Amino acid sequence: MRVLVSGGGIGGPALALALRRAGIDVRTFEAHPGPAAGLGSHLGLAPNGLAVLHALGAGEDVIAHSAFPSDTIEFTNGRGRVLGRLRDGSAEHGDRLRTRTITRGRLQTVLAEAAARAGVPVAYGRRLVSHTDHGDHVTVSFADGGTARGDVLIGADGIHSPVRRTMDPAAPGPAYTGLLNMGGSLPAHLLPATPAGTTRMVFGRRAFLGYQTGEETALWFVNLPHPDVGPDTPAPAGGWQRYVLDRFSGDAPYIAAALAHADPAAFTPTGIHDIASLPRWSRGRVGLLGDAAHAMAPSSGQGASQALEDALVLASCLRDIDDPAQALATYEHLRRDRVERVVALGRRQGSPKLAGNAVSAFLRDLALPLVFRAVARTDPHREVFSHRIDPDRPVRPAGVVR
Ligand SMILES: Cc1cc2nc3c(=O)[nH]c(=O)nc-3n(C[C@H](O)[C@H](O)[C@H](O)COP(=O)(O)OP(=O)(O)OC[C@H]3O[C@@H](n4cnc5c(N)ncnc54)[C@H](O)[C@@H]3O)c2cc1C
Repeated sequence: MRVLVSGGGIGGPALALALRRAGIDVRTFEAHPGPAAGLGSHLGLAPNGLAVLHALGAGEDVIAHSAFPSDTIEFTNGRGRVLGRLRDGSAEHGDRLRTRTITRGRLQTVLAEAAARAGVPVAYGRRLVSHTDHGDHVTVSFADGGTARGDVLIGADGIHSPVRRTMDPAAPGPAYTGLLNMGGSLPAHLLPATPAGTTRMVFGRRAFLGYQTGEETALWFVNLPHPDVGPDTPAPAGGWQRYVLDRFSGDAPYIAAALAHADPAAFTPTGIHDIASLPRWSRGRVGLLGDAAHAMAPSSGQGASQALEDALVLASCLRDIDDPAQALATYEHLRRDRVERVVALGRRQGSPKLAGNAVSAFLRDLALPLVFRAVARTDPHREVFSHRIDPDRPVRPAGVVR
């Protein structure tokens, strides 16, 4: 069997590694000319995602390139009053699995290098433009005029997945969560230090700041309630950085003072979208993985980790089930409920960031300490973080072929 994978982001190279491990021939194609080192900022890797990376043999490399092992989130309002502290429980999983932060470009590079070492390099500059399922095989065409043939096609091509659009033109598109995201790094001394192992989340009156400080560098991100933006949306008068600084006026002065020193390019906003539920994750020999199937808000902290879990499960299904359509249906059956719960969790965790004025922020700050106490009792992360996939466990056919 030969599997074609469109997308060399996070899930694509992870799937290539998992398929290689399962003894399956795989070709991975990425539209960009190389790993997108400068695109995007940082993302979180949770114990469940790190467990997959270790199973794929890439865990130690990822840890070497990641930072800020953490297990505690401290929430404050914009004036610095602590609203609550939550331990995420990841320390209980041992140091190798403790939640960490890594730039998306670095994670992509480490995975692509691991795939190349395993003999399954990502082919860059190969933008898939169309595909056809012929019943007994699939073919794909690239923007460079080339083609490829395989037994299965997996769209690991992100939230705006071209494979999804062709596979199921009626599928709902990503939904806007109402928040813009931007982020980058700063010299650590510009922000009040975070205690070891702690991420600080600041609910300002009109914007949200998350950050962690290390010895030299601090990583930060900002979420803003705002209408969605696209590549053609004009920047506000004075530029996005000025706009963000204004949104933090009225909050503790250190926030705007620190962000004034950040690289203006870090304020390029991206709308946060998610996909709560797709009618189908596959059709015949074509399937979806990662954000293409179930994009989730960064508030979940699970986008990369869920794509990694997908990769391990899908590889086992394709290894153990001869019929590709049945293998893809089984993968969806095994993954869908869990992933959709995590998408919903990300939505819930992002909603307090939507306060856009002093009154809604005041009411939110009254409610949040109660919410955090309730969350500490129910501990929704426990189930998400404890999930482990045994790649050697045989998979039996399940789910409905569609
Ligand atoms: C440029 C970029 C920056 C990001 N920055 C952040 C961030 O700062 N923080 C965060 O939490 N998450 C970020 N994400 C999202 C995060 O990477 C994903 O949520 C998560 O890792 C799931 O990975 P994925 O492989 O499913 O999708 P992605 O990581 O989005 O990878 C999809 C890949 O498919 C490629 N692709 C798209 N269309 C085609 C095509 N037609 N042919 C071939 N390849 C194609 C894309 O170039 C991309 O490399 C970013 C994604 C991208 C693409």
